[in-house]
Amino acid sequence: MVQTVYTFGGDAPHDDPRQKDKTVTGGKGANLAEMASIGLPVPPGFTITTEVSVKHLEGIDTRPLIESQVEEALTHIECTVGKKFGDAADPLLVSVRSGARVSMPGMMDTVLNLGLNDETVEGLARTSGDERFAWDSYRRFIQMYSDVVLGVDHGLFEEALEIAKEDNGYYADTELSADDWRALVAEYKGIVESELGKPFPSDPKEQLWGAIYAVFDSWDSERAKVYRRLNDIPADWGTAVNVQAMVFGNMGDTSATGVAFTRDPATGQRAYYGEYLINAQGEDVVAGIRTPQYLTKAAREAAGAKAPSMEEALPEAYAELARVFDLLERHYKDMQDIEFTVERGKLWMLQTRSGKRTAKAALKMAVDMVGEGLIDEKTAILRVDPMALDQLLHPTLDPQAERHVLATGLPASPGAAAGKIVLDADTAEQWASRGEKVILVRVETSPEDIHGMHAAQGILTARGGMTSHAAVVARGMGRPCVSGATGISIDRASGTVRIGSHELKEGDEITLDGANGQVMLGIVPTVEPELAGDFGTLMEWADAHRRMRVRTNAETPEDCRMARQFGAEGIGLCRTEHMFFDANRISAVRQMILAESEEGRRKALDLLLPEQRADFTEIFEVMTGLPCTIRLLDPPLHEFLPHGDNEFAELSDATGLGIDHLKRRASELHEFNPMLGHRGCRLGITFPEIYEMQARAIFEAACAVQKSSGEAPLPEIMIPLVATKRELELLRALVDRVAKEVFEEQGVEVDYLVGTMIELPRAALMAGEIAKEGAFFSFGTNDLTQTTLGVSRDDSAKFLAQYVEKGIFPRDPFVSLDIDGVGQLVELAAERGRATRPDIKLGICGEHGGDPASIAFCEKVGLDYVSASPYRVPIARLAAAQAALK
Ligand code: PEP
Ligand code: MG
Repeated sequence: MVQTVYTFGGDAPHDDPRQKDKTVTGGKGANLAEMASIGLPVPPGFTITTEVSVKHLEGIDTRPLIESQVEEALTHIECTVGKKFGDAADPLLVSVRSGARVSMPGMMDTVLNLGLNDETVEGLARTSGDERFAWDSYRRFIQMYSDVVLGVDHGLFEEALEIAKEDNGYYADTELSADDWRALVAEYKGIVESELGKPFPSDPKEQLWGAIYAVFDSWDSERAKVYRRLNDIPADWGTAVNVQAMVFGNMGDTSATGVAFTRDPATGQRAYYGEYLINAQGEDVVAGIRTPQYLTKAAREAAGAKAPSMEEALPEAYAELARVFDLLERHYKDMQDIEFTVERGKLWMLQTRSGKRTAKAALKMAVDMVGEGLIDEKTAILRVDPMALDQLLHPTLDPQAERHVLATGLPASPGAAAGKIVLDADTAEQWASRGEKVILVRVETSPEDIHGMHAAQGILTARGGMTSHAAVVARGMGRPCVSGATGISIDRASGTVRIGSHELKEGDEITLDGANGQVMLGIVPTVEPELAGDFGTLMEWADAHRRMRVRTNAETPEDCRMARQFGAEGIGLCRTEHMFFDANRISAVRQMILAESEEGRRKALDLLLPEQRADFTEIFEVMTGLPCTIRLLDPPLHEFLPHGDNEFAELSDATGLGIDHLKRRASELHEFNPMLGHRGCRLGITFPEIYEMQARAIFEAACAVQKSSGEAPLPEIMIPLVATKRELELLRALVDRVAKEVFEEQGVEVDYLVGTMIELPRAALMAGEIAKEGAFFSFGTNDLTQTTLGVSRDDSAKFLAQYVEKGIFPRDPFVSLDIDGVGQLVELAAERGRATRPDIKLGICGEHGGDPASIAFCEKVGLDYVSASPYRVPIARLAAAQAALK
């Protein structure tokens, strides 16, 4: 039988490669084993593999498969620590924690202090010499276990605690005595019994098995599912479970617990960064319930805080921690995110992992580490998540703008965010779904808020530190966050929030500056981002390592300019219909569509010609010397028709045609399935004069730019929705004829190409034939996905989310290419096209051209370029480099 339980710490062997494989033991388990093997102080424990979780998810009864291995592993902990699990005299206590392949901070469950009952608590009191600590640990355990394993509402326990404090006139938990906690334990057990109709389990083994399976089950908690969806984590990975000897950060003033990063995860600065709490357990820091203290003296002084830093309060443990930081960074060659506990002066490492970071920090660390000789350029390129660059490309607050600062909190996740105040995650989601920008304002965030955090522009919390759940999750998502902003009080019932001296209500506008923690009244203006510095350096390295070119999908001169700033090397798709929607032109477009004869259509097209030519001239001026793929009209004509009586009346005035006549003509154009109807090249075949006008506008513009600048772009005229060679043959002849006419009229010639989109399965299959007529293919994977899957682009939102949740598709196939299915057609068309025409140009212009996983596929099949919307161009440049390096 394969080993499904691995021990670590003490004299456990750490030489089985499976144990250090995150896919087997999860990130936490693998790294605990790794830390133990390099001699760091790790409390002993064991990991149950993700394979067990997968079997459990499949409904298999896994306990018989692991029972004897778990027993043996427990003995390993007992022998190493010298205590026995369930021993009334000197009990071993353990923690039970999740640990998936990739970290999902706060999304799954944890149980601490497991092994306590009415007998062992007395043993703990005696051996620790601290009765108060023992009973506090016991009540924490009951509360956590009841919530996580037994499903009892944790609010009931919090209420009981609040009442106990009130009755005694206490303000803080720290004021409760051993007897107070003892009384609360009795009360907590009563709550459990009345909620469940049976007593709280006192047998430590029963507790252990309950916790192990609750942690496995937390893989499928609602918040974990949302997190997985947002981060593209497959539903079938499962989580490992780590059982580890407890060490206590809450054993008095020489004990502490903390979370630390080896570099600043918000800015990337090379400075230890973190927080700790004296006399506390880890969850107190992570949950943001108490606002923690700084790790270093420098950070404390910079923040003007009074409470001593760890460096000052626990200098020896701090020095040891600093030594461990350096060791870990050199070992992992990356910034680490660490959880530690100091138990009566001794440092213990509970976790290390590559730390989540903002895009800015990721860039700075990658570039700095190359400079430090820790990693090479290739590693630096591979280290930065291309999608995260998005955070850097958007505006930041204008430093010149006036700021009406209401309050200041911790700069937990940088960036500027402005929007309307909302006080809960569901409202955030609702308002955002109707297009409003919102700021989620909470006392503290809990993992249940994740959907609201995602929907919001930014997050503001009254409590919690820089490593609280809100801060970690916000940084991972790239949402600006200000946490621990004192002076905020929230009244959910009345929908109001007091910030400083201002009383605001839900819907009022505020702005957050996640870089300095300021909360401001109203919407503060923003400025464009800085694209030089570390960003520029990394992009230069990426450009030197990529093979594919990166173009942009753009149809306005402004978008083209922006895309060029972002590094676009041409246009991969100019959707000319967008130019038809212009308010000044729509009337001419409608006249063209509603004309009964070719003559009528030509008259209207004559009005459009100068407008289109002007558009192309401007675009070509921005794109001189670069290839520009211009697609001729694609959507069905009825998309341009008037809606509502007013628009019909306006059109009637403009054309002199009666309203009834216009309505009849409009209804003639109605189609049941326009996506598969009279669109794309079918328009060009039936109304050739439209494509003629467009081709003329393109060539006249190219000739004009050639004359004015001596450097025309290379127009690549693209025919959409081709299914057969003959369609392309006819339309190519049309384009060639117009080109010849224009070149003769203008007395200049420019180079150009005619090619097609591959958007239909038949086109992909017949690519060898079609390539005889087309000099290039551009894969229109939006339509190719739609037509291959038989799933409507416009209607799929209703069911695709569930398809992804149920694992039918790993990701939305309109966002990330269905490589197994649609990908085959792309690969086959590329091969067949090249067989006919070895120098055929191949690119992609569907949305997938900006998706890193799809870009990796494009590299694999050897496309020449990818094309993406302007803001995605840097993402595509980096993803293309990563694809080439992998
Ligand atoms: C496509 O189908 O992939 C494409 C780029 O064209 P459009 O999205 O305009 O249909
Ligand atoms: Mg298309």
